[in-house]
Amino acid sequence: MTQNNDNRPKVRTRFPPSPTGALHIGGGRTALFNWLFARHHGGQFIMRLEDTDLQRSKPEHVTSILEAMEWLGLDFDEGPYYQTKRFDRYKQVVEQMLQSGAAYWCHCSPETLQAKREAAMASGAKPMYDGCCRGKGLGPAPGAVVRFAGPRTGSTTFNDMVKGPITFDHAELDDLIIQRSDGSPTYHLAVIVDDIDMEVTHVIRGDDHVSNTPRQILLIRALGHLEPRYAHIPMILGQDKARLSKRHGATAITDYREMGYLPEAMINALARLGWSHGDQEIFSRQELIELFDLDSVGRSAAVFDLDKLRSLNHKYIQKADPQRLAQLVQPFLAKLGLAAYDEAVLRKAIPELVQRTENLEQLAQWAQPYLVDQPEMDAKARQKFLIGPEAAAILRQVRELVAAGNVDDVAAMNEAFRALAARTGQKLGALAQPTRVALTGRTASPGIFEVMAILGRQAVLTRLDQAIAGA
Ligand code: GLU
Repeated sequence: MTQNNDNRPKVRTRFPPSPTGALHIGGGRTALFNWLFARHHGGQFIMRLEDTDLQRSKPEHVTSILEAMEWLGLDFDEGPYYQTKRFDRYKQVVEQMLQSGAAYWCHCSPETLQAKREAAMASGAKPMYDGCCRGKGLGPAPGAVVRFAGPRTGSTTFNDMVKGPITFDHAELDDLIIQRSDGSPTYHLAVIVDDIDMEVTHVIRGDDHVSNTPRQILLIRALGHLEPRYAHIPMILGQDKARLSKRHGATAITDYREMGYLPEAMINALARLGWSHGDQEIFSRQELIELFDLDSVGRSAAVFDLDKLRSLNHKYIQKADPQRLAQLVQPFLAKLGLAAYDEAVLRKAIPELVQRTENLEQLAQWAQPYLVDQPEMDAKARQKFLIGPEAAAILRQVRELVAAGNVDDVAAMNEAFRALAARTGQKLGALAQPTRVALTGRTASPGIFEVMAILGRQAVLTRLDQAIAGA
């Protein structure tokens, strides 16, 4: 009956994706929970690639999964292990099970099995292998598979760390194939051998794996080991409460990197998919390590809310070191065609731009006018604010102020503008808006004095001159 290994000293968790695609939100959340649980308990986190499906596993998926892990900062203490490199070991275990009588050769042809399946379904029974080769003492043969001789009566209960006790009847489980006719191990066999060899103490995975757990426990016990503890975490839904899928937008973790999200925002959002700590929404990585445990993982489905991620990203961008943002925004500027620019200008601009920025892509868009020789002019804005004798007069007045002043002194420029507005009976906005359009090509920007300080005296004068000439 129930045997859980509470007394094992150290925590060892694993993340074992199958490299048949990119790392998705769900996989990222599983990886994070395993990583956090290991870090929280001062244990170890193991990376393993379950690449036994030779048709669907691709090296490029391995690369992209590992890249996503690195981007998220989920470092591992061991691995990556590759199951394809452990085939000899799986064979050895199958051999051991054959020797001990825990497994047997099955010669049933696929056609026979298919016919039995159909007959069972026709009679309304669950299609299960009937154990026809069990106890026959068959040996290897072309096309033969190896099956686990599982218990046929009784039941086993395991205490899921999220879902509580789960009991399964052995009669519900047929004799599972553990080695295919080509000699390759099946999924369950490879997983349990690895979990045993890698001394995994806690298996934290999506609850779509609950039904696999009984089979895995029985296999592990048949090999004379204690199973790890299991924690099945709730599935993730989109905001429409349907299972999260491509329909809900990007699902690959690296897509979010490409859209300009910061890894700390992603980590924060992933952590909240099923785990909570009171009403708290924002967690630093350190806080997550301190607070994370499985008792605070809920049983009901989690909802991935893109708006929440957006707002988290906005908050993290505002908090981020401008120097780091200047680095991170580079590829986004490159996408806008900006390969070479004055980095000092960018660093000055960033603190002024982050308030209005939700992601790095937007940051690049906001920063663009400051980094190019000539800002791209919004045609409507130009027509409204930069054309005609009145506009020209304003721009000339502003130019004079700038020429006589110091654009780096934001307070002094502010005062000078106000004095000019008072002297000429104009509103400050009447001076500021044409100046803004002349300097940035747009009607929206940080405060006009900050804009001038970012651009520096020379660029401000050049842009004003150009606007005057074009008025
Ligand atoms: N390779 C499996 C998957 O990607 C994980 C199996 C497990 O966590 O035990 O779903």
